[in-house]
Amino acid sequence: MAILRVTKYGEPILRQKLKPVDFAKIAPQLPQLLKDMEETCLAVHGVGLAANQIGLPLRLAVILLPGKEDTDPPTRYVIINPEIVAKNGEKLEEEGCLSLPGLWAEVKRATDVTLKYIDENGKQQTKRARGLLAKAFQHEVDHLDGKLFIDLVDPKLKPEVKKAIKKLREQWD
Ligand SMILES: [Zn+2]
Repeated sequence: MAILRVTKYGEPILRQKLKPVDFAKIAPQLPQLLKDMEETCLAVHGVGLAANQIGLPLRLAVILLPGKEDTDPPTRYVIINPEIVAKNGEKLEEEGCLSLPGLWAEVKRATDVTLKYIDENGKQQTKRARGLLAKAFQHEVDHLDGKLFIDLVDPKLKPEVKKAIKKLREQWD
């Protein structure tokens, strides 16, 4: 297992719209890759990690949804070739991203989404989610489409966000 470097804002791979993967092709390398992604996500206290955040152009992400109590283990979702097929509701909430460490901003997200994806066993799944999981699904699918949460910030607040990023970048590796 390995803790991988997380790509940061400004690296071109974060702006790439990633093409669906051929499950059979990646299956042999998948268990190790998922282990590494999970370990990396845990190490940096993230809720989710998309493949382009570790520099790989694969349309997949790992989500580690925290348990109710701090001592509860997270629930893991592996979402391969995910696609949001329904969304409802809207809520403005603070969000952050492992590729923009130190930055938090309010963005609007749907409160209820249905995601179609392939799981780590190659099975097609459909999952309806609310709350933090709904937010994570949207955040990770955005990553795989080359989008970042700051794209969703109120345009009036964008100059402020830009300034904050400029300052934060000096601390990133
Ligand atoms: Zn992110």
